Amino acid sequence: MWGSGILKGLAITLKHLFEWDITEQYPEERPNLYPRFRGRLILNPEKCIVCGMCVKTCPNNVLSFTQARLKEGKKKVLTSYTIDHQYCMFCNLCVEACPTGGLYFSHDFEWAAFNREDIKFVYEPDLSHLELASDDAEAGEKGIRASKEDKNEKLINATIIAIRKNPAKALGKILNDESEALKLAEMIGEDENKLRKMAELIVIDKEKAAKVARAFLVKGQKKEEG
Ligand code: SF4
Ligand code: SF4
Repeated sequence: MWGSGILKGLAITLKHLFEWDITEQYPEERPNLYPRFRGRLILNPEKCIVCGMCVKTCPNNVLSFTQARLKEGKKKVLTSYTIDHQYCMFCNLCVEACPTGGLYFSHDFEWAAFNREDIKFVYEPDLSHLELASDDAEAGEKGIRASKEDKNEKLINATIIAIRKNPAKALGKILNDESEALKLAEMIGEDENKLRKMAELIVIDKEKAAKVARAFLVKGQKKEEG
């Protein structure tokens, strides 16, 4: 019969019209999470006894740490602990393996990021009140420094690629004018050292990067005029 489809559709609409709403209006309405929901893996550094069980258990090499020994006695302390969430599959094995309950999953699920590095968490407990055995203290310091340097190096390389691919956007972080950003990209693009220096400044100190960029542009303009 002609129009039977429309009538069927209206009947379904009417049937559901008077039902209770089941859609959650996220983000205005917060979801009702179950107690065992696995959001973000968290370390409680105070409970960690540096036994390494979590690292050995994790099938995806998500976890790593550096350690040092106290000067007095043989007790080990944690100098840094890294959770690289991008590889975590939320299997809970590390939580089950930890003998002290130092690891747990929080209900935090809103941690999307543009950059994979941004979901890597590095805990660096304050050890200033402890006296570490000198060799270990140095090793621990090196471990922390290495992880910071490694992170910066990755960001610098990503910035270099971004400047090459989309200079207006990448240099727009320090220059508001798109034409100036393109001009700067042209000026530094062919000199590997200048490009790297600018990328380093953007990662480490944006204010300084903006000043240096301005100086480059002024110098370039003077050259054109003279
Ligand atoms: S939940 Fe599983 S994959 Fe994630 S860190 Fe723990 S053991 Fe590794
Ligand atoms: S298993 Fe627990 S106590 Fe052992 S190193 Fe991992 S977090 Fe620390």
